[in-house]
Amino acid sequence: MNDFYKDYSLKHVINASGKMTILGVSKVPSIAIEAQRFGDTHFFEMSELVNRTGEQISKWLGSQGAVVVNSASAAIAQSVAGIIGQGSMHHVYHPFDERYTNREIIIPKGQNVDYGTPEEVMIELGGGKVVEAGYANMCSKEHIEMMITDKTAAIFYVKSHHAVQKSMLSVKDAVEVAHKHNLPLILDAAAEEDLKKYVEMDIDVVIFSGAKALEGPASGLLFGKQPYIDWIKLQSRGIGRSMKIGKENILGLTTALKEYLENGTESGKSMINRLTPFIESLNKVPHISAKQVQDAAGREIYRAEITIQPDSSKNAKTVLKELKNGKIAIYTREYRSNEGIFELDIRAVDSEEMNIITNKLKEILN
Ligand SMILES: *Cc1c(COP(=O)(O)O)cnc(C)c1O
Repeated sequence: MNDFYKDYSLKHVINASGKMTILGVSKVPSIAIEAQRFGDTHFFEMSELVNRTGEQISKWLGSQGAVVVNSASAAIAQSVAGIIGQGSMHHVYHPFDERYTNREIIIPKGQNVDYGTPEEVMIELGGGKVVEAGYANMCSKEHIEMMITDKTAAIFYVKSHHAVQKSMLSVKDAVEVAHKHNLPLILDAAAEEDLKKYVEMDIDVVIFSGAKALEGPASGLLFGKQPYIDWIKLQSRGIGRSMKIGKENILGLTTALKEYLENGTESGKSMINRLTPFIESLNKVPHISAKQVQDAAGREIYRAEITIQPDSSKNAKTVLKELKNGKIAIYTREYRSNEGIFELDIRAVDSEEMNIITNKLKEILN
């Protein structure tokens, strides 16, 4: 096996920060890698591959339709385009033609976030015209309702920790407003965990990222109601072509999803079992104290919280910089570094990497 770290002089990264796009998001489970290998080394009638995997996913989720696409971002652009074009082949070939007048996509202002690219860029890529509802700090059902015109194509909702949470209408509120006005709701739930919940909520189009909670390869998943899913699938002959997904990743994501639905991700209990000896060894490093903490949003995720002691000659910022600048780059959760605190997320860290982290900290702080 090639060592691509060596071949291309790449930095070996230990990801103790969580699911970060800048680090490559997830490690894919081996069963999904096997599926990708099968995809890579065989041929398919591509439309059949897309349709059958979509049908299978719909059965698992209880949705009317589903399709695997190249990313959640591609899913946003193609959902918007599909809903504007409503199945017209002329629209697929002329997506920005002025005869398609219903292009307004209403999004709560506090949800027009930059997750790596702004939501509005993907909406505009699909031919949508962004209409923000509410204000930076609030959006109610009424705020959405007052922006609806005869040019509105859909309501767009972003369920994400990136978005403003306070004084924000709920997903359920958004479905109610949309359906009251006979409009579809597009839900960007890219990094969320519970897929079936959104099918039960009767949401028209739901978007997940394949490589986040689902731990699949780079891909996106769209599921929801007909005819929307069919309209969106048509985009593969138009703008969707520039966002094409390979056969290997269609099979990889489908397999990763099956694994995720059957076995979930690592349980909180298992994380604690792996964390306990790690925290013990971290507490032997001079000038730091380590303890177990639960995810601030209350998810079943446990992490090691490290506090740099006042007697240390190096502050947290210096320690974090040295962790990243070593021969192996160690990435952590840094958002509290001003307070002398950082966290280690172990979801993608094995015991060998834990030893590397502990030893590196000893080297830095001794
Ligand atoms: C990560 C993310 C996306 C994009 O997912 P990709 O699959 O990387 O395109 C979209 N929306 C939100 C809210 C995200 O967190």
